[in-house]
Amino acid sequence: MTEFRIVEIFESLQGEGYNTGMPAIFIRFAGCNLNCQWCDTNFRQFTRYTLADILAKVKSYQSKNIIITGGEPTMVKALPELLAPLKQANYFIAIESNGLGKVDSLIDYIALSPKFCYQTRYQKIVQSTADEVRIVAENHPEFLPFCCYMEKHIKAKRYFLSPCEKNGEFNMFETIELLGKINQQRRENKWLLSIQTHKFANIE
Ligand code: SF4
Repeated sequence: MTEFRIVEIFESLQGEGYNTGMPAIFIRFAGCNLNCQWCDTNFRQFTRYTLADILAKVKSYQSKNIIITGGEPTMVKALPELLAPLKQANYFIAIESNGLGKVDSLIDYIALSPKFCYQTRYQKIVQSTADEVRIVAENHPEFLPFCCYMEKHIKAKRYFLSPCEKNGEFNMFETIELLGKINQQRRENKWLLSIQTHKFANIE
């Protein structure tokens, strides 16, 4: 029987990106193929769930939106086994991925968050479409070229820069300065600001 390594399943509001405020059930998978210095997720501690365990937990909540996250959920080989019954039950399924793996076609909304600190890993683009791309802002001469590279190679409806939190501080000024620079030559602001509002609202 397939077992899934799950960090946590909980119901909350989406805290960032275009769907900020959307009620959703978060399914957080263990394991990641990166190890970002500022990562705020403990993706190494997990509980084993069967498919039936996950479905029972999901059905105990009210929301009809699911956010599949991690860690890095595209690494979960058995993910299609979970997605199929969720689709059958008419859930809207979003995923949050670092963009290094291919996203399953049953996913309704794709949020990719490529990591500048691992920029060499993105020389080969595996997932070239998304609903949104969200990049954590870093003060480095190569950062904006990295964003432009991502914009060129991942066709998305929206692009966001997100302030980075280190030791409880957000690099807010750097982020809006970078936004100004990346949008400077455009008639419309193509890149937008995404804030991790859940951290300010004190929700999960
Ligand atoms: S990709 Fe995401 S989950 Fe993985 S280490 Fe980086 S921030 Fe953490």
